[in-house]
Amino acid sequence: MTPATENQKTIQTRCCVVGGGPAGMMLGFLLARSGVDVVVLEKHKDFLRDFRGDTIHPSTLELLVELGLLDEFLKLPHQELRSVQITADGQTVPVADFSHLPVHCQFIAFMPQWDFLSFLAEKGKQYPSFHLHLQTEATDIVQENGQITGVRAITQTGELIINADLVIGTDGRRSTIREKAGLAVQDFGVPIDVLWMRIPKDPAVGEQSLGYLKSGQFMVLIDRNDYFQCGFLIPKGQFESVKQRGLAALQADILSLAPFVGEYVKELDAWDKISLLTVKIDRLRQWFRPGLLCIGDAAHAMSPAGGVGVNLAVQDAVATANQLIPALQRGRVTVDTLARIQRRRQWPVRVIQAGQIFIHKRLINASVNDPSTIPPFILWLFRHIPAFRRLPARLIGMGPRPEHIRT
Ligand SMILES: Cc1cc2nc3c(=O)[nH]c(=O)nc-3n(C[C@H](O)[C@H](O)[C@H](O)COP(=O)(O)OP(=O)(O)OC[C@H]3O[C@@H](n4cnc5c(N)ncnc54)[C@H](O)[C@@H]3O)c2cc1C
Repeated sequence: MTPATENQKTIQTRCCVVGGGPAGMMLGFLLARSGVDVVVLEKHKDFLRDFRGDTIHPSTLELLVELGLLDEFLKLPHQELRSVQITADGQTVPVADFSHLPVHCQFIAFMPQWDFLSFLAEKGKQYPSFHLHLQTEATDIVQENGQITGVRAITQTGELIINADLVIGTDGRRSTIREKAGLAVQDFGVPIDVLWMRIPKDPAVGEQSLGYLKSGQFMVLIDRNDYFQCGFLIPKGQFESVKQRGLAALQADILSLAPFVGEYVKELDAWDKISLLTVKIDRLRQWFRPGLLCIGDAAHAMSPAGGVGVNLAVQDAVATANQLIPALQRGRVTVDTLARIQRRRQWPVRVIQAGQIFIHKRLINASVNDPSTIPPFILWLFRHIPAFRRLPARLIGMGPRPEHIRT
Protein backbone atom coordinates (compact mmCIF):
# COMPACT_ATOMS: atom_id res chain seq x y z
CA MET A 1 0.00 0.00 0.00
CA THR A 2 1.28 3.50 -0.88
CA PRO A 3 1.60 5.67 2.29
CA ALA A 4 -0.81 8.62 2.65
CA THR A 5 0.59 12.01 1.58
CA GLU A 6 -0.38 15.57 2.54
CA ASN A 7 -2.39 16.06 -0.65
CA GLN A 8 -4.27 12.82 -0.33
CA LYS A 9 -7.99 12.73 0.44
CA THR A 10 -10.11 9.66 1.15
CA ILE A 11 -13.83 9.30 0.60
CA GLN A 12 -16.21 6.42 1.13
CA THR A 13 -19.07 5.30 -1.08
CA ARG A 14 -21.08 2.19 -1.82
CA CYS A 15 -20.29 2.14 -5.51
CA CYS A 16 -17.48 3.85 -7.44
CA VAL A 17 -18.13 4.07 -11.18
CA VAL A 18 -14.97 4.89 -13.16
CA GLY A 19 -15.72 6.68 -16.46
CA GLY A 20 -18.49 9.12 -17.34
CA GLY A 21 -19.42 7.73 -20.75
CA PRO A 22 -22.85 6.31 -21.65
CA ALA A 23 -22.39 3.21 -19.46
CA GLY A 24 -21.06 5.12 -16.45
CA MET A 25 -23.50 8.02 -16.54
CA MET A 26 -26.53 5.80 -17.01
CA LEU A 27 -25.43 3.46 -14.22
CA GLY A 28 -24.60 6.36 -11.88
CA PHE A 29 -28.00 7.92 -12.51
CA LEU A 30 -29.89 4.63 -11.98
CA LEU A 31 -28.06 3.81 -8.75
CA ALA A 32 -28.59 7.29 -7.32
CA ARG A 33 -32.24 7.20 -8.36
CA SER A 34 -32.65 4.11 -6.16
CA GLY A 35 -30.92 5.80 -3.23
CA VAL A 36 -27.55 4.05 -3.61
CA ASP A 37 -24.60 6.29 -2.78
CA VAL A 38 -22.49 6.45 -5.95
CA VAL A 39 -19.32 8.29 -6.98
CA VAL A 40 -18.76 8.68 -10.74
CA LEU A 41 -15.23 9.62 -11.84
CA GLU A 42 -14.60 11.27 -15.21
CA LYS A 43 -11.11 12.28 -16.22
CA HIS A 44 -12.19 15.14 -18.49
CA LYS A 45 -13.55 18.46 -17.27
CA ASP A 46 -16.77 18.13 -19.28
CA PHE A 47 -18.44 15.84 -21.83
CA LEU A 48 -17.43 17.94 -24.85
CA ARG A 49 -15.49 15.51 -26.97
CA ASP A 50 -15.87 14.80 -30.64
CA PHE A 51 -14.88 11.18 -31.02
CA ARG A 52 -17.99 9.57 -29.67
CA GLY A 53 -20.99 7.77 -31.00
CA ASP A 54 -23.87 10.15 -31.52
CA THR A 55 -26.74 7.76 -31.96
CA ILE A 56 -29.51 7.16 -29.42
CA HIS A 57 -31.37 4.07 -30.59
CA PRO A 58 -35.03 3.10 -30.16
CA SER A 59 -34.16 0.72 -27.28
CA THR A 60 -32.47 3.54 -25.34
CA LEU A 61 -35.33 5.92 -26.13
CA GLU A 62 -37.71 3.27 -24.76
CA LEU A 63 -35.72 3.26 -21.51
CA LEU A 64 -36.22 7.03 -21.33
CA VAL A 65 -39.96 6.39 -21.75
CA GLU A 66 -39.81 3.95 -18.82
CA LEU A 67 -37.94 6.56 -16.77
CA GLY A 68 -40.49 9.27 -17.66
CA LEU A 69 -37.77 11.39 -19.28
CA LEU A 70 -38.49 11.05 -22.99
CA ASP A 71 -40.42 14.29 -23.59
CA GLU A 72 -37.77 16.38 -21.87
CA PHE A 73 -34.99 14.54 -23.69
CA LEU A 74 -36.52 15.05 -27.12
CA LYS A 75 -36.63 18.81 -26.52
CA LEU A 76 -32.84 18.78 -26.96
CA PRO A 77 -31.74 19.48 -30.55
CA HIS A 78 -31.62 16.23 -32.50
CA GLN A 79 -32.43 14.68 -35.86
CA GLU A 80 -34.66 11.63 -36.31
CA LEU A 81 -33.61 8.87 -38.66
CA ARG A 82 -36.52 6.55 -39.48
CA SER A 83 -34.72 4.43 -42.04
CA VAL A 84 -31.12 3.91 -43.09
CA GLN A 85 -30.03 4.16 -46.70
CA ILE A 86 -26.68 3.60 -48.25
CA THR A 87 -25.54 4.81 -51.64
CA ALA A 88 -23.60 2.07 -53.43
CA ASP A 89 -21.98 3.02 -56.74
CA GLY A 90 -24.40 5.94 -57.04
CA GLN A 91 -27.52 3.85 -56.35
CA THR A 92 -29.43 4.42 -53.14
CA VAL A 93 -30.44 1.26 -51.28
CA PRO A 94 -32.64 1.18 -48.14
CA VAL A 95 -31.02 -1.19 -45.62
CA ALA A 96 -32.97 -0.69 -42.38
CA ASP A 97 -36.55 0.36 -41.69
CA PHE A 98 -37.39 1.15 -38.06
CA SER A 99 -41.13 1.69 -38.63
CA HIS A 100 -42.03 -1.85 -37.50
CA LEU A 101 -40.25 -1.83 -34.15
CA PRO A 102 -42.55 -2.39 -31.12
CA VAL A 103 -41.52 0.82 -29.31
CA HIS A 104 -42.70 4.41 -28.83
CA CYS A 105 -39.89 5.94 -30.91
CA GLN A 106 -39.43 4.20 -34.24
CA PHE A 107 -36.33 6.19 -35.09
CA ILE A 108 -32.70 6.73 -34.19
CA ALA A 109 -32.11 10.11 -32.56
CA PHE A 110 -28.90 11.75 -33.73
CA MET A 111 -27.66 13.90 -30.92
CA PRO A 112 -24.13 14.95 -29.97
CA GLN A 113 -23.16 12.55 -27.18
CA TRP A 114 -22.16 15.40 -24.89
CA ASP A 115 -25.82 16.51 -24.81
CA PHE A 116 -26.94 12.99 -23.87
CA LEU A 117 -24.31 12.70 -21.14
CA SER A 118 -24.97 16.20 -19.78
CA PHE A 119 -28.68 15.33 -19.67
CA LEU A 120 -27.95 12.20 -17.57
CA ALA A 121 -25.58 14.20 -15.35
CA GLU A 122 -28.27 16.83 -14.70
CA LYS A 123 -30.81 14.14 -13.87
CA GLY A 124 -28.32 12.37 -11.58
CA LYS A 125 -27.54 15.60 -9.70
CA GLN A 126 -31.17 15.76 -8.58
CA TYR A 127 -30.38 12.93 -6.16
CA PRO A 128 -28.26 13.61 -3.05
CA SER A 129 -26.52 10.24 -3.36
CA PHE A 130 -25.09 11.08 -6.83
CA HIS A 131 -21.54 12.48 -6.77
CA LEU A 132 -19.92 13.28 -10.11
CA HIS A 133 -16.21 14.09 -9.90
CA LEU A 134 -14.95 15.66 -13.12
CA GLN A 135 -11.21 16.04 -13.85
CA THR A 136 -10.62 12.98 -11.71
CA GLU A 137 -8.65 10.22 -13.37
CA ALA A 138 -8.50 6.75 -11.89
CA THR A 139 -4.93 5.51 -11.87
CA ASP A 140 -5.20 2.24 -9.95
CA ILE A 141 -7.43 -0.05 -7.97
CA VAL A 142 -7.07 -0.59 -4.23
CA GLN A 143 -7.19 -4.21 -3.06
CA GLU A 144 -6.96 -6.17 0.14
CA ASN A 145 -6.53 -9.96 0.18
CA GLY A 146 -7.72 -10.30 -3.43
CA GLN A 147 -10.86 -8.19 -2.86
CA ILE A 148 -11.03 -4.84 -4.72
CA THR A 149 -11.95 -2.23 -2.13
CA GLY A 150 -11.58 1.05 -3.98
CA VAL A 151 -9.91 3.25 -6.55
CA ARG A 152 -6.92 5.54 -6.52
CA ALA A 153 -7.37 8.71 -8.59
CA ILE A 154 -5.62 11.95 -9.48
CA THR A 155 -7.49 15.26 -9.21
CA GLN A 156 -6.51 18.89 -9.76
CA THR A 157 -5.60 19.18 -6.10
CA GLY A 158 -3.90 15.87 -5.42
CA GLU A 159 -4.65 12.22 -4.93
CA LEU A 160 -8.09 10.90 -4.06
CA ILE A 161 -8.75 7.45 -2.64
CA ILE A 162 -12.31 6.24 -3.07
CA ASN A 163 -13.15 3.33 -0.80
CA ALA A 164 -16.13 1.46 -2.17
CA ASP A 165 -18.09 -1.75 -1.65
CA LEU A 166 -18.01 -2.17 -5.40
CA VAL A 167 -15.96 -0.64 -8.24
CA ILE A 168 -17.43 -0.57 -11.75
CA GLY A 169 -15.07 0.01 -14.67
CA THR A 170 -16.88 1.97 -17.36
CA ASP A 171 -13.72 3.68 -18.59
CA GLY A 172 -13.97 2.57 -22.20
CA ARG A 173 -11.80 0.69 -24.65
CA ARG A 174 -8.51 1.75 -23.04
CA SER A 175 -9.76 0.89 -19.56
CA THR A 176 -7.24 1.46 -16.77
CA ILE A 177 -9.48 -0.48 -14.40
CA ARG A 178 -9.52 -3.69 -16.43
CA GLU A 179 -5.78 -3.46 -16.97
CA LYS A 180 -4.99 -2.89 -13.30
CA ALA A 181 -7.36 -5.70 -12.34
CA GLY A 182 -5.47 -8.00 -14.71
CA LEU A 183 -8.61 -9.14 -16.55
CA ALA A 184 -7.72 -11.16 -19.66
CA VAL A 185 -8.75 -9.59 -22.98
CA GLN A 186 -9.63 -11.46 -26.15
CA ASP A 187 -8.76 -9.28 -29.18
CA PHE A 188 -10.60 -9.98 -32.44
CA GLY A 189 -8.56 -7.78 -34.79
CA VAL A 190 -10.18 -5.29 -37.15
CA PRO A 191 -9.00 -4.55 -40.71
CA ILE A 192 -10.01 -0.88 -40.75
CA ASP A 193 -9.44 2.49 -39.11
CA VAL A 194 -11.57 5.62 -39.45
CA LEU A 195 -10.67 9.18 -40.43
CA TRP A 196 -13.06 11.43 -38.48
CA MET A 197 -13.71 15.00 -39.64
CA ARG A 198 -16.32 17.73 -40.00
CA ILE A 199 -17.39 19.13 -43.34
CA PRO A 200 -19.63 22.23 -43.36
CA LYS A 201 -23.02 21.54 -44.94
CA ASP A 202 -24.66 23.51 -47.72
CA PRO A 203 -28.03 24.60 -46.19
CA ALA A 204 -29.72 23.75 -49.51
CA VAL A 205 -28.76 20.07 -49.27
CA GLY A 206 -31.69 17.89 -48.16
CA GLU A 207 -31.81 14.46 -46.54
CA GLN A 208 -29.04 12.14 -47.71
CA SER A 209 -27.89 8.55 -47.24
CA LEU A 210 -25.92 7.58 -44.17
CA GLY A 211 -23.34 5.35 -45.87
CA TYR A 212 -21.50 5.71 -49.21
CA LEU A 213 -19.72 2.90 -51.01
CA LYS A 214 -17.88 3.17 -54.29
CA SER A 215 -14.72 1.91 -55.98
CA GLY A 216 -13.23 0.41 -52.86
CA GLN A 217 -14.14 3.29 -50.58
CA PHE A 218 -16.62 3.53 -47.72
CA MET A 219 -17.77 6.65 -45.90
CA VAL A 220 -20.44 7.56 -43.36
CA LEU A 221 -21.95 11.06 -43.28
CA ILE A 222 -23.89 12.02 -40.16
CA ASP A 223 -26.06 15.07 -40.74
CA ARG A 224 -25.63 17.51 -37.86
CA ASN A 225 -27.69 20.30 -39.43
CA ASP A 226 -24.96 22.80 -40.25
CA TYR A 227 -22.21 20.27 -40.86
CA PHE A 228 -21.63 16.63 -41.74
CA GLN A 229 -19.68 14.47 -39.32
CA CYS A 230 -17.72 12.36 -41.73
CA GLY A 231 -16.20 8.94 -41.04
CA PHE A 232 -13.99 7.81 -43.91
CA LEU A 233 -12.72 4.23 -43.72
CA ILE A 234 -9.14 3.32 -44.52
CA PRO A 235 -7.32 -0.03 -44.32
CA LYS A 236 -5.76 -0.46 -40.87
CA GLY A 237 -2.45 1.29 -40.39
CA GLN A 238 -2.61 3.16 -43.72
CA PHE A 239 -3.00 6.75 -42.45
CA GLU A 240 0.57 7.63 -43.42
CA SER A 241 0.01 6.54 -47.02
CA VAL A 242 -3.25 8.51 -47.11
CA LYS A 243 -1.24 11.54 -45.97
CA GLN A 244 1.38 10.93 -48.63
CA ARG A 245 -1.32 10.96 -51.33
CA GLY A 246 -2.23 14.43 -50.06
CA LEU A 247 -5.31 16.36 -48.95
CA ALA A 248 -6.44 17.05 -52.50
CA ALA A 249 -6.68 13.29 -53.18
CA LEU A 250 -8.72 12.73 -49.99
CA GLN A 251 -11.03 15.64 -50.91
CA ALA A 252 -11.49 14.13 -54.38
CA ASP A 253 -12.34 10.71 -52.85
CA ILE A 254 -14.97 12.29 -50.61
CA LEU A 255 -16.46 14.24 -53.50
CA SER A 256 -16.61 11.16 -55.67
CA LEU A 257 -18.61 9.35 -52.94
CA ALA A 258 -20.87 12.31 -52.05
CA PRO A 259 -20.77 14.99 -54.78
CA PHE A 260 -23.38 17.13 -52.94
CA VAL A 261 -20.73 18.08 -50.35
CA GLY A 262 -19.44 20.42 -53.09
CA GLU A 263 -16.93 23.19 -52.47
CA TYR A 264 -17.24 22.70 -48.69
CA VAL A 265 -14.87 19.75 -48.92
CA LYS A 266 -12.06 22.29 -49.38
CA GLU A 267 -12.52 23.27 -45.74
CA LEU A 268 -10.52 20.11 -45.05
CA ASP A 269 -7.33 22.07 -45.74
CA ALA A 270 -5.09 20.81 -42.91
CA TRP A 271 -4.36 17.38 -41.46
CA ASP A 272 -5.09 18.62 -37.95
CA LYS A 273 -8.75 18.85 -38.99
CA ILE A 274 -8.71 15.08 -39.54
CA SER A 275 -8.43 12.63 -36.66
CA LEU A 276 -7.42 9.01 -36.91
CA LEU A 277 -9.71 6.78 -34.85
CA THR A 278 -8.35 3.33 -34.26
CA VAL A 279 -11.09 0.74 -34.47
CA LYS A 280 -10.98 -2.35 -32.32
CA ILE A 281 -13.19 -5.18 -31.16
CA ASP A 282 -12.30 -7.06 -28.03
CA ARG A 283 -13.96 -8.73 -25.06
CA LEU A 284 -12.97 -9.67 -21.54
CA ARG A 285 -13.10 -13.39 -20.81
CA GLN A 286 -14.26 -12.63 -17.28
CA TRP A 287 -15.83 -9.22 -16.60
CA PHE A 288 -15.41 -9.26 -12.81
CA ARG A 289 -13.30 -9.95 -9.76
CA PRO A 290 -14.43 -9.85 -6.13
CA GLY A 291 -15.45 -6.20 -5.58
CA LEU A 292 -15.14 -5.19 -9.26
CA LEU A 293 -17.11 -5.39 -12.51
CA CYS A 294 -16.42 -3.98 -15.99
CA ILE A 295 -19.22 -3.11 -18.41
CA GLY A 296 -19.57 -1.16 -21.68
CA ASP A 297 -16.50 -0.80 -23.88
CA ALA A 298 -14.31 -1.59 -20.85
CA ALA A 299 -15.71 -5.13 -21.01
CA HIS A 300 -16.20 -5.31 -24.78
CA ALA A 301 -14.80 -2.64 -27.13
CA MET A 302 -17.22 -2.09 -30.01
CA SER A 303 -16.51 -1.05 -33.57
CA PRO A 304 -18.54 1.83 -35.05
CA ALA A 305 -20.13 -0.67 -37.50
CA GLY A 306 -23.89 -0.43 -37.04
CA GLY A 307 -23.42 2.41 -34.55
CA VAL A 308 -24.52 0.27 -31.62
CA GLY A 309 -21.79 0.69 -28.97
CA VAL A 310 -23.50 3.50 -27.07
CA ASN A 311 -26.71 1.58 -26.81
CA LEU A 312 -25.03 -1.64 -25.74
CA ALA A 313 -23.21 0.33 -23.05
CA VAL A 314 -26.53 1.78 -21.86
CA GLN A 315 -28.16 -1.68 -21.90
CA ASP A 316 -25.25 -3.04 -19.84
CA ALA A 317 -25.81 -0.24 -17.33
CA VAL A 318 -29.52 -1.03 -17.01
CA ALA A 319 -28.92 -4.78 -16.59
CA THR A 320 -26.24 -4.00 -14.00
CA ALA A 321 -28.51 -1.65 -12.04
CA ASN A 322 -31.33 -4.23 -12.14
CA GLN A 323 -29.10 -6.83 -10.49
CA LEU A 324 -27.02 -4.59 -8.24
CA ILE A 325 -29.62 -2.44 -6.57
CA PRO A 326 -31.37 -5.30 -4.74
CA ALA A 327 -27.95 -6.85 -3.95
CA LEU A 328 -26.58 -3.57 -2.56
CA GLN A 329 -29.75 -3.09 -0.53
CA ARG A 330 -29.31 -6.60 0.93
CA GLY A 331 -25.67 -5.97 1.87
CA ARG A 332 -22.45 -6.87 0.06
CA VAL A 333 -22.40 -7.80 -3.62
CA THR A 334 -21.13 -11.33 -4.22
CA VAL A 335 -19.24 -12.64 -7.24
CA ASP A 336 -22.35 -14.68 -8.05
CA THR A 337 -24.25 -11.44 -8.68
CA LEU A 338 -21.41 -10.13 -10.85
CA ALA A 339 -21.25 -13.41 -12.78
CA ARG A 340 -25.01 -13.20 -13.36
CA ILE A 341 -24.56 -9.73 -14.91
CA GLN A 342 -21.83 -11.02 -17.23
CA ARG A 343 -23.99 -14.02 -18.23
CA ARG A 344 -26.93 -11.77 -19.01
CA ARG A 345 -25.01 -9.28 -21.16
CA GLN A 346 -22.41 -11.57 -22.73
CA TRP A 347 -24.83 -13.17 -25.16
CA PRO A 348 -26.10 -9.94 -26.81
CA VAL A 349 -22.53 -8.61 -26.94
CA ARG A 350 -21.31 -11.80 -28.67
CA VAL A 351 -24.10 -11.61 -31.26
CA ILE A 352 -23.40 -7.95 -32.08
CA GLN A 353 -19.62 -8.35 -32.13
CA ALA A 354 -19.96 -11.37 -34.44
CA GLY A 355 -22.11 -9.18 -36.73
CA GLN A 356 -19.49 -6.41 -36.64
CA ILE A 357 -16.69 -8.85 -37.44
CA PHE A 358 -18.76 -10.15 -40.37
CA ILE A 359 -19.39 -6.61 -41.65
CA HIS A 360 -15.67 -5.79 -41.41
CA LYS A 361 -14.47 -8.92 -43.12
CA ARG A 362 -17.12 -9.52 -45.75
CA LEU A 363 -18.42 -6.05 -46.57
CA ILE A 364 -16.20 -3.21 -45.46
CA ASN A 365 -12.86 -4.98 -45.83
CA ALA A 366 -14.01 -6.28 -49.20
CA SER A 367 -14.92 -2.80 -50.38
CA VAL A 368 -11.89 -1.01 -48.91
CA ASN A 369 -9.29 -3.58 -49.95
CA ASP A 370 -10.86 -5.26 -52.95
CA PRO A 371 -13.78 -3.47 -54.59
CA SER A 372 -14.56 -6.36 -56.91
CA THR A 373 -15.70 -8.60 -54.04
CA ILE A 374 -18.75 -6.62 -52.81
CA PRO A 375 -21.59 -9.16 -52.96
CA PRO A 376 -24.21 -7.43 -55.15
CA PHE A 377 -26.94 -9.93 -54.21
CA ILE A 378 -27.05 -8.46 -50.71
CA LEU A 379 -27.86 -5.02 -52.13
CA TRP A 380 -30.43 -6.63 -54.44
CA LEU A 381 -32.18 -8.27 -51.47
CA PHE A 382 -32.39 -4.98 -49.58
CA ARG A 383 -33.63 -3.10 -52.64
CA HIS A 384 -36.36 -5.56 -53.66
CA ILE A 385 -37.55 -7.27 -50.47
CA PRO A 386 -38.74 -4.68 -47.90
CA ALA A 387 -39.08 -7.33 -45.15
CA PHE A 388 -35.33 -7.88 -45.43
CA ARG A 389 -34.80 -4.39 -43.98
CA ARG A 390 -36.50 -5.37 -40.72
CA LEU A 391 -33.70 -7.60 -39.43
CA PRO A 392 -30.97 -4.91 -39.45
CA ALA A 393 -33.54 -2.47 -38.02
CA ARG A 394 -34.20 -4.89 -35.17
CA LEU A 395 -30.51 -5.59 -34.53
CA ILE A 396 -29.44 -1.96 -34.79
CA GLY A 397 -32.48 -0.37 -33.18
CA MET A 398 -33.16 -2.81 -30.34
CA GLY A 399 -30.23 -5.19 -30.05
CA PRO A 400 -30.65 -8.89 -29.27
CA ARG A 401 -31.75 -8.52 -25.63
CA PRO A 402 -33.28 -5.13 -24.87
CA GLU A 403 -33.25 -4.36 -21.15
CA HIS A 404 -35.98 -2.68 -19.11
CA ILE A 405 -35.90 -0.54 -15.99
CA ARG A 406 -36.77 -2.81 -13.07
CA THR A 407 -35.71 -0.61 -10.19
C1 LIG B 1 -14.99 6.18 -34.53
C2 LIG B 1 -16.09 5.60 -33.69
C3 LIG B 1 -17.40 5.98 -33.95
C4 LIG B 1 -18.42 5.41 -33.21
N1 LIG B 1 -19.71 5.75 -33.52
C5 LIG B 1 -20.72 5.20 -32.81
C6 LIG B 1 -22.07 5.57 -33.07
O1 LIG B 1 -22.36 6.37 -33.96
N2 LIG B 1 -23.04 5.03 -32.32
C7 LIG B 1 -22.76 4.14 -31.30
O2 LIG B 1 -23.70 3.67 -30.63
N3 LIG B 1 -21.49 3.79 -31.02
C8 LIG B 1 -20.46 4.30 -31.73
N4 LIG B 1 -19.18 3.95 -31.44
C9 LIG B 1 -18.92 3.06 -30.30
C10 LIG B 1 -19.17 3.83 -28.99
O3 LIG B 1 -18.53 5.09 -29.03
C11 LIG B 1 -18.73 3.06 -27.75
O4 LIG B 1 -19.11 1.70 -27.87
C12 LIG B 1 -19.38 3.67 -26.50
O5 LIG B 1 -18.99 5.01 -26.35
C13 LIG B 1 -19.02 2.90 -25.24
O6 LIG B 1 -19.50 3.59 -24.10
P1 LIG B 1 -18.78 3.44 -22.70
O7 LIG B 1 -19.53 4.27 -21.73
O8 LIG B 1 -18.58 2.01 -22.39
O9 LIG B 1 -17.30 4.01 -22.93
P2 LIG B 1 -16.80 5.44 -23.43
O10 LIG B 1 -17.83 6.11 -24.24
O11 LIG B 1 -15.48 5.21 -24.03
O12 LIG B 1 -16.65 6.27 -22.10
C14 LIG B 1 -15.58 6.05 -21.21
C15 LIG B 1 -15.42 7.28 -20.35
O13 LIG B 1 -14.45 7.03 -19.35
C16 LIG B 1 -13.57 8.13 -19.25
N5 LIG B 1 -12.30 7.59 -18.72
C17 LIG B 1 -11.41 6.83 -19.38
N6 LIG B 1 -10.41 6.48 -18.56
C18 LIG B 1 -10.67 7.04 -17.37
C19 LIG B 1 -9.99 7.04 -16.11
N7 LIG B 1 -8.84 6.36 -15.93
N8 LIG B 1 -10.54 7.73 -15.08
C20 LIG B 1 -11.70 8.42 -15.25
N9 LIG B 1 -12.38 8.46 -16.42
C21 LIG B 1 -11.87 7.76 -17.46
C22 LIG B 1 -13.49 8.67 -20.66
O14 LIG B 1 -13.07 10.02 -20.67
C23 LIG B 1 -14.92 8.50 -21.13
O15 LIG B 1 -15.72 9.60 -20.82
C24 LIG B 1 -18.12 4.50 -32.17
C25 LIG B 1 -16.81 4.14 -31.89
C26 LIG B 1 -15.79 4.67 -32.66
C27 LIG B 1 -14.37 4.26 -32.38
